[in-house]
Amino acid sequence: MSKTVVGVLGLQGDVVEHLEALRRAGLTGMEAKTREDLRRVDALIIPGGESTTVAKLLDRFALREPLIARIRGGMPTWGTCMGMIVLSADIAGMPDQPTLGVLDVTVLRNAFGRQVESAEVPLEIPALGGPPFPGVFIRAPWVERVGEGVEVLARLEGKAVMVRQGNILGTSFHPELTRDVRIHRWFAGWCTRAQSAA
Ligand code: GLN
Repeated sequence: MSKTVVGVLGLQGDVVEHLEALRRAGLTGMEAKTREDLRRVDALIIPGGESTTVAKLLDRFALREPLIARIRGGMPTWGTCMGMIVLSADIAGMPDQPTLGVLDVTVLRNAFGRQVESAEVPLEIPALGGPPFPGVFIRAPWVERVGEGVEVLARLEGKAVMVRQGNILGTSFHPELTRDVRIHRWFAGWCTRAQSAA
């Protein structure tokens, strides 16, 4: 079996940090910017950044349709912060901002007040096991509405900040900005299973 390649959507945001985290975790990462790149990856991370900008770039680079097709086809996909906003069904109070609509949640952008505007908070993530995960929050969204079939994996101040729906993972926080690669490894493990099931 060929080695799993984890793509990082390279339109905007903290792409390099994710590639670096994958390297530290002993995984093969690749920046994915084009439709051709997208065909070469086994899984995809959509990094943090600015969701309004990325929404426009997805259309400029004609990536919206192929991305939706791959994700619906079962490709393991993880959105961190802005990435989770891009994956969501919709954004509270912003009906006109387009999303990919593949993760059945409603998110609220820039949801945490000043206290958590830029903070590192220990998070209990039972699905991951081990000690609390260092959750780095930067103008982060929280999940307002969780659709049927969406699991909440972590909460902060009672709000869902990590969710999973089958092959799709969303985190409000930024694991790529910490030394802790447990979520990168866990996510990459889904790829191995998706590949062997193919
Ligand atoms: N506030 C940004 C947005 O709504 C997300 C911030 C981030 O990804 N760190 O697009």
